[in-house]
Amino acid sequence: MFQIAIRNPSGQVGWHAFINEKGNRYGRWFVTDFAGVAKERAFWWCLCNCGNIGKVAGTALRAGVSKSCGCTTAELARERLTKYRHEQTGRMTIHKKKEGDTQ
Ligand SMILES: [Zn+2]
Repeated sequence: MFQIAIRNPSGQVGWHAFINEKGNRYGRWFVTDFAGVAKERAFWWCLCNCGNIGKVAGTALRAGVSKSCGCTTAELARERLTKYRHEQTGRMTIHKKKEGDTQ
């Protein structure tokens, strides 16, 4: 547990205790650092197995709501698509455009 000062909407500063998630692993997420507080919830910088970084609420991590950056869903969809294309054409071409790529 660690404590953070939070200013509530009326301007008062209160101390809130949060569970330290740094170094924990949830699904594909690896919690790398504390990201801040929003709406009295602690957020964490998480590194996904695929290399993406996301800001996730500690509550979402602990509840199992967020387990990856979303790549699991994308991978499943791509697998299905690949299989389908493979069956249709005998070959497949998948282009994944990354952020920052220039074409
Ligand atoms: Zn990912």
